[in-house]
Amino acid sequence: MYDVAIVGGGPAGLTAAIYARRANKQVVVFEATNCGGQIINSEKIDNYPAAPHISGLDFSQKLTEQVEELGVEIVYEQVQHVTGSYGDFQINTDSGECHAKTVILACGTDTRKMGLEREDELTGKGISYCATCDGHFFKGKDVAVYGGGNTALHEAIYLADVSRKVYLVNRRDDLRASADLIAKAKKKDNIEFVLGATIDQLSGEKKLESVTLNTGKKLEISALFVAIGRVPNIVGIVPGLKLDANGYADSDDSCETNILGLYVAGDMRNKAVRQLVTATSDGAVAAVAALDQLNNPTPRDERYKEWLKLYKIAGIGLKEGGLAAAKVSEYMGIDYPTAVKYIDALDKINVAHSDLKNPVGHSVKIGSLQDFPNPDGFDSREGDEFLESL
Ligand code: NAP
Repeated sequence: MYDVAIVGGGPAGLTAAIYARRANKQVVVFEATNCGGQIINSEKIDNYPAAPHISGLDFSQKLTEQVEELGVEIVYEQVQHVTGSYGDFQINTDSGECHAKTVILACGTDTRKMGLEREDELTGKGISYCATCDGHFFKGKDVAVYGGGNTALHEAIYLADVSRKVYLVNRRDDLRASADLIAKAKKKDNIEFVLGATIDQLSGEKKLESVTLNTGKKLEISALFVAIGRVPNIVGIVPGLKLDANGYADSDDSCETNILGLYVAGDMRNKAVRQLVTATSDGAVAAVAALDQLNNPTPRDERYKEWLKLYKIAGIGLKEGGLAAAKVSEYMGIDYPTAVKYIDALDKINVAHSDLKNPVGHSVKIGSLQDFPNPDGFDSREGDEFLESL
């Protein structure tokens, strides 16, 4: 049984591993391909404190070496599922199962696909999602970059030095990228901006030969580099994990999710800034939260008695207690309606609480009832009896 299992060997996951291992915990990192994450594709990192001009590859290698020297086990396997709860999570990989008391998910994001016909068929035959990886195959050719964010602008600037001509196609007239990158791209006289246009069709016999825009214009190109944002990598790995509308994992300031003992770090988290520095920061915060949980091993029922006392004192109403009931149900292994009855037995006044700390310092998120059914016909005396029986 590991103390901490980390899913994902990018900057967030590896930083979490450093913090957890330095606290003498048994730590395992699961990584499906190579450690390093997407930063490995960055030619140069200029915004990480005290490491100016380092390449993404060097950064990743140094970080991986640091983790290995500390004695963290790295397992190169794809994680299929994470189930269970604090104290005994089961992590299923392609080849087996392992157990850990806490889990930190740091699976990152994957490139967003255009969703066009023939996109899969032509990937690797003219369609690429990484200019620094594949740009050199198109030396002296005409190419296009799709997107208007920082990634797209970085790719266009890189390709301008490799290819003959670069079309930068973006769906809006405005570019989302930072002003310095836009200025740099505008200085390259072989970059042509094609703004306010979407790519609607991909053509070519055995490889990509042209794309057609919604304006009807056709661009004759040998390669299209797609950089239209990213999507989180977690869908379906953890049943019951709360996600936002875009599929990013919800978590509080300590990176704790709706599942006790399960944390998220890095780009897959619902947050405002997705940068290398915020990924490593998340890794540290998530690991410290996991260590706190491991070092305060209140038995599950004891923990819940404490929480419930707190609810009673706070007089949390049924409406505000919807999520509390879900937590009670999850941790005490009782069904949801019974948990609601129990919480309702403690319902004295309706007070809005957005975030309470339980006695061992963990956030109890009180959501609205809209996500939960509102059961009828309960007798609050039953709840009192239930409370007494604990
Ligand atoms: P991004 O900032 O989300 O930009 C995505 C671009 O693709 C936008 O122009 C967007 O248009 C467009 N787009 C999104 N969905 C589309 C669709 N379905 N069809 C056509 N176009 C679509 O993504 P990113 O450039 O990959 O960057 C991701 C994060 O990493 C950002 O926070 C970025 O700042 C950060 N990053 C930072 C650096 C750096 O040097 N500091 C480098 C790379 C990335 P709209 O603008 O209309 O939405």
